[in-house]
Amino acid sequence: MTDAVVTRFAPSPTGFLHIGGARTALFNWLYARHAGGRMLLRIEDTDRERSTEAAIAAILDGLSWLGLDWDGEAVHQFRRASRHREVAESLLASGDAYLCYATPQELEEMREKARAEGRPPRYDGRWRERPASQAPAGVAPVVRLKAPQEGETVLDDKVQGRVSFANKDLDDFILLRSDGTPTFMLAVVVDDHDMGVTQIIRGDDHLTNAARQMQIYEALGWTAPGMAHIPLIHGADGAKLSKRHGALGVDAYRAMGYLPEALRNYLVRLGWSHGDKEFFSTQEMIDAFDLGHVGRSPARFDFVKLESMNGHYIRASRDADLVAALEATTPYLPPGGGDPIAFDDETRTKLRAAMPGLKERAKTLVELLDGAAYLFAKRPLVLDAKALALLDAVGRAHIASLLPRFASLETWSAKGAEAAVRDYVEETKVKLGQVAQPLRAALTGRATSPGIFDVLEVLGREESLARLQDQAH
Ligand code: GLU
Repeated sequence: MTDAVVTRFAPSPTGFLHIGGARTALFNWLYARHAGGRMLLRIEDTDRERSTEAAIAAILDGLSWLGLDWDGEAVHQFRRASRHREVAESLLASGDAYLCYATPQELEEMREKARAEGRPPRYDGRWRERPASQAPAGVAPVVRLKAPQEGETVLDDKVQGRVSFANKDLDDFILLRSDGTPTFMLAVVVDDHDMGVTQIIRGDDHLTNAARQMQIYEALGWTAPGMAHIPLIHGADGAKLSKRHGALGVDAYRAMGYLPEALRNYLVRLGWSHGDKEFFSTQEMIDAFDLGHVGRSPARFDFVKLESMNGHYIRASRDADLVAALEATTPYLPPGGGDPIAFDDETRTKLRAAMPGLKERAKTLVELLDGAAYLFAKRPLVLDAKALALLDAVGRAHIASLLPRFASLETWSAKGAEAAVRDYVEETKVKLGQVAQPLRAALTGRATSPGIFDVLEVLGREESLARLQDQAH
């Protein structure tokens, strides 16, 4: 066990838990669990205009659904503003930060000048050495870091390797705004330090922020946590992830019928590898996870792969667990064709009995539920076009002939029904399919379903005979 590893997941609650955030959370969680350490949660709600309670609730819900728990109470960054201010003031006192009275017009001129000269817009340090006695009247100052102007700031990143930034390209950025509120840059450093974070794992869109944050650590004389910036997720075509590619909230994946354990397995392989191994139990993930095998190029999000992985998880799940997953997920799934299913004991028993046949053919819970629709369909069944075509005069005649044979079965089982059909097929010299397909159409209203003998058994004697009777003429 490594000594006291502490990671954190630090979402900004300005939207739902999107898929990239979920992967960041997963990597932090795995890294901490692997080391026997802790993963903390920090809600970065300093953007008061864009942060919402609904987004916080959605993020917590998404994490819980994925099975990612955090240690201790979530920290709300906004509530720590006075502590952030205190640290900024200590930097002022030590001379590592200064008050800047530049007006919005001056800043705009600076930007214009930089643009004209083809340089990135940077603050020019004009208040670095100027005493506050020269402060113009009526301008509330901001606090800026007195950042090093020469040399470089180096990150030893566990994913990106050694990354260096020329200090002349990083300006004296703001720590406290003129209204006294802390900037994101300052708040992240103070919180990570106070929370005892030892390892940061986040998207590589924060790489430049990391350099600036290192400068704050240095000015404060604090030891910076380890850094690991993971490449962002791209779409299957290599372009930046958009909605069409899957840049959706985790809740959307739940509504598409993915199992959380399948999504988690898919996400861990998105940018991290362990040889060729594809499937990981939770414990296997925890045991194997390391930052050394996080790739440096963007991972590609592939719906087809996710779907096939989900199908694998569905087939490998226990029947009772799938019934429970359906029950838990149905409120989030799009309404299917049939009436909504009420989950009572009878429903659960039916689903469970039908599950071995159903789970073989479903890649998502949506498909699973759709496949189960026949169990709950009301007589007389609504037949789809293909089923209707199968129930022509010949098909109906087979059903009529089979009915008394089924009715006289002593015990009702898939085996018994199969024997009856096989006898009939042999005597009448027709192909099994010519009989099985009309049976399927009459019993399920569709041309595809689980094995027809299983369907007969699961529906039971009374319901099966009644559905067949409905179509026998
Ligand atoms: N709140 C930031 C975000 O959601 C993450 C900041 C960090 O991890 O340091 O992108």
